[in-house]
Amino acid sequence: MTNGNENIDIAIVGGGVSGAYSAWQLKQKFPDKKIVLFEGSNHIGGRLLSVKPPGINNMVAELGGMRILENTQYRIVALIKKLNKQLAAKDKIELYDFPVDQPQNIAYLRGFHLRLSYFTKKPNKVPYNLSFLERGMSPGSIIVNAIEQIVPGITNEALSEEQRREMAHNANFAGRPLYEQGFWNVLARIITGEAYELSVDAGGYNSTLTNWNAADAIPWYLSDFGISPEYKGFKKGFQQVPESVATLFKDIGGEIRLSTKVDGFERVGDKFQLSVKGETIAAESLILAMPRRSLDLLAPNSPLLQEEAIESLISSVTPRPLFKLFTTYTSPWWRAAGDTNAQGNFVPVESGRTVTDLPVRQTYYWPKDNGEPATEGPSMLMASYDDGTNVGFWDGLRPQRRQAWKKGLEVAEIINPFEGECSEEERNLNPWFQYYAGKPMVAEVARQLAVIHDLSYTPEVKNAAFRDWGDDPFGGGWNSWNIGVQSSEVIPKIVKPLEDCPLYICGEAYSNSQGWVEGALETADLVLEKFDICPL
Ligand SMILES: Cc1cc2nc3c(=O)[nH]c(=O)nc-3n(C[C@H](O)[C@H](O)[C@H](O)COP(=O)(O)OP(=O)(O)OC[C@H]3O[C@@H](n4cnc5c(N)ncnc54)[C@H](O)[C@@H]3O)c2cc1C
Repeated sequence: MTNGNENIDIAIVGGGVSGAYSAWQLKQKFPDKKIVLFEGSNHIGGRLLSVKPPGINNMVAELGGMRILENTQYRIVALIKKLNKQLAAKDKIELYDFPVDQPQNIAYLRGFHLRLSYFTKKPNKVPYNLSFLERGMSPGSIIVNAIEQIVPGITNEALSEEQRREMAHNANFAGRPLYEQGFWNVLARIITGEAYELSVDAGGYNSTLTNWNAADAIPWYLSDFGISPEYKGFKKGFQQVPESVATLFKDIGGEIRLSTKVDGFERVGDKFQLSVKGETIAAESLILAMPRRSLDLLAPNSPLLQEEAIESLISSVTPRPLFKLFTTYTSPWWRAAGDTNAQGNFVPVESGRTVTDLPVRQTYYWPKDNGEPATEGPSMLMASYDDGTNVGFWDGLRPQRRQAWKKGLEVAEIINPFEGECSEEERNLNPWFQYYAGKPMVAEVARQLAVIHDLSYTPEVKNAAFRDWGDDPFGGGWNSWNIGVQSSEVIPKIVKPLEDCPLYICGEAYSNSQGWVEGALETADLVLEKFDICPL
């Protein structure tokens, strides 16, 4: 390692939303300090990754995060407002109503085709051996009802998110503190095994109901899936948020180094020595804005991260894989799988999602950038949005995980790419093509989509792109608190784990809103408070 002469006042490692936002806020507070944001990939945004599908001008594929809960996630709402005050009219961040489940959409479960309305309207068609009390309830209501029995009063709509969190963190269930118990374990005490299976299968996610810290899982579940969520999507894609923040940071003199992975760091005297591309760079303060797996990858070359006090904080969460695959077509063929309503009128399947226990798990009929469904012409599906063990299903149809980051690449090269249809020029310029799916993966998703929609013919896929967030350096799309951990104690500690050392850690992984940008901003604000910067 050569010894460079560079000195930085504040080094931020990780150009996801938490790192970009921290950098911008710090530069506004300390205009004369040298503040540098290091990002290993070739773009800002991390797990916010929005790409334009070839040939479809009015849609954006969200390979990472896609929506916010406008009524409860006040930090992201405040950040958008703050950005829009500074951005030129053409660059402003615009939202649309993100469509959710529609009654005519399909649930293909245990080999049976149901409409989403059947859970409550035709309960005898639901192929699960539910109890007398459970039959006729929607899968979400089964869980919300169980939660109310585990923590009585917590589903009261008048409570704030914070009040719910406090209730759950202080709750006991069956004679033991809730935080010492797993979400799956406590649910199993209340609902039948069949109701649990139905809630996992029809809920669309495996990892949300799995065994993670029940005291954190319960308020988390209620805010996302439980009490009348209203989602907003992003007209130009969610990645526009961190990108806009990064642009404003640069405009006031901040420096961003893309494709610059930090390999490790040491504390030498009163400085950090960062190891970057074979050189050392000195920094007064260091902010690691990244999830657990990224920290684990840094640890072997970073003695401080191996110290018991920090290591035990870092290992308090578990990364949970998430996978997304988008496919495009010349027309929205799925409309044909609609239903006939009581008046005898045909109601197409055209917005929101369909769920299945097949590995694709959730299929979203992707909206136009004004939130309206595509009714004709070039159209797109988020063909698969899956998590947990289902991500493993695609392993045989894609390159091995954990290889690309080691070689300095963002994603592994696909050996048998589904090249799709577009001009050579677009193929070279459009970032969509960095995330090519392989031919076997596209063939398999097409097969499952035909089964789910009960259509023997589905038109050919035009283009396909996927992202597996279980890959390095993320290790997961989201992180969950481990059983036995008291997150309310870990969060204030991990943002500045050592009393006398200006090392800070932030990001979604160690927050109260795991799996959300809101969580990334929450912990970034906690770090910024240490620099006397007001939170959002
Ligand atoms: C599929 C999916 C769906 C989601 N859906 C939503 C949603 O609808 N709404 C929502 O609000 N949130 C959603 N999320 C979560 C949201 O995307 C994340 O919470 C948020 O983007 C995390 O930001 P972060 O700054 O904490 O970390 P990240 O975005 O993970 O950023 C970390 C950055 O650090 C970089 N890095 C890591 N190690 C190094 C190193 N050694 N050197 C240099 N750089 C390094 C990485 O390349 C990355 O850019 C979703 C996530 C996924 C994956």
